[in-house]
Amino acid sequence: MAMSVNVSSSSSSGIINSRFGVSLEPKVSQIGSLRLLDRVHVAPVSLNLSGKRSSSVKPLNAEPKTKDSMIPLAATMVAEIAEEVEVVEIEDFEELAKKLENASPLEIMDKALEKYGNDIAIAFSGAEDVALIEYAHLTGRPFRVFSLDTGRLNPETYRFFDAVEKHYGIRIEYMFPDSVEVQGLVRSKGLFSFYEDGHQECCRVRKVRPLRRALKGLKAWITGQRKDQSPGTRSEIPVVQVDPVFEGLDGGVGSLVKWNPVANVEGNDVWNFLRTMDVPVNTLHAAGYISIGCEPCTKAVLPGQHEREGRWWWEDAKAKECGLHKGNVKENSDDAKVNGESKSAVADIFKSENLVTLSRQGIENLMKLENRKEPWIVVLYAPWCPFCQAMEASYDELADKLAGSGIKVAKFRADGDQKEFAKQELQLGSFPTILVFPKNSSRPIKYPSEKRDVESLTSFLNLVR
Ligand code: SF4
Repeated sequence: MAMSVNVSSSSSSGIINSRFGVSLEPKVSQIGSLRLLDRVHVAPVSLNLSGKRSSSVKPLNAEPKTKDSMIPLAATMVAEIAEEVEVVEIEDFEELAKKLENASPLEIMDKALEKYGNDIAIAFSGAEDVALIEYAHLTGRPFRVFSLDTGRLNPETYRFFDAVEKHYGIRIEYMFPDSVEVQGLVRSKGLFSFYEDGHQECCRVRKVRPLRRALKGLKAWITGQRKDQSPGTRSEIPVVQVDPVFEGLDGGVGSLVKWNPVANVEGNDVWNFLRTMDVPVNTLHAAGYISIGCEPCTKAVLPGQHEREGRWWWEDAKAKECGLHKGNVKENSDDAKVNGESKSAVADIFKSENLVTLSRQGIENLMKLENRKEPWIVVLYAPWCPFCQAMEASYDELADKLAGSGIKVAKFRADGDQKEFAKQELQLGSFPTILVFPKNSSRPIKYPSEKRDVESLTSFLNLVR
């Protein structure tokens, strides 16, 4: 396919100073294997999108008519530039993710560092994602690490940063929030506004904007996201993807690539790796912390609790992504479509014959009963919601297991017209919401956990029935 391109320079200024001494000042721009000289306009050039240098590139007027003409010079320049111009490779990252799906984290890390060199950096939170640094170290390649210092981290995390720097002989490239923005937030709303009106605003100022600035100096970044970290929002993370949220150095949608080398690794295996390699770890882990973020928004979890339950525990499960990886959270409005299909057309879920389907009247009656003879567990759901779909098998299994036990398992479809009612009367915050109506009480109790497996639901039922 032949195409005409006009190329002008784009200067770039880096945000993160490289510990390798590579200047990020405006310079000859480099996009993949295409090198462009400042302010040079290239006459129509034939580009071979197959990825090989085009042998058919012939500058216009390559045969000069007279020796005095300026044309030969221009032609020579264009020819030289054409020689320099290799082809813009349009990488298919979905395809690459499929190829690497069964690769080890070390292979994935090696591939990422090989491909992006100094234009990629590891995002380090100060928790078990230190495994990424160990993997990068094991590749033997140079690598960069950046971290967001929100100003609200635990003292243990700062000490851990220092230990990591010394252990690997690196300097972490810290990103700080804009002081004027922090000042504005704290002076107007206080130091703990996130407990009142949610963590998004504070995270936006202290984390997301500094992160955005950091990423604008890169072409790719490496995260420690794993599928098992958040059952709903992170269950579909590929090992590499075009970043769905942030922009990179070249600007615009699709200008940043996100690598997730441990996407397919389970938390236990990460810990086995850290122990085996004798890697320094954050001392908070020994105090029961798994996922570690800012001090006011992170707490230790009990054995068996999911790690994400130790973050923003006062909020609904669906919001627990802090904006950093919000591309993982699927859009949830009633008007949108799912895979091109209208939400109302999506097939119903929870189909066990041992499940009771409650109508609006049915659930209102259940709410009125003060002395019901048996406890009920009811899921408020929307069939198009991926989190509801993810728990379908375990909820059906629960219904089958409890059949004849005296405990009723039910569902109430709470989207569309029923949503406002469910929000007002049934504590619906997000889908799915699970309620237990105990035997001798009219007041339902909301199930507080993200763990929706049969064992967790059964043990909660036994505690409150
Ligand atoms: Fe603010 Fe908490 Fe977010 Fe940290 S985790 S930026 S303290 S809301």
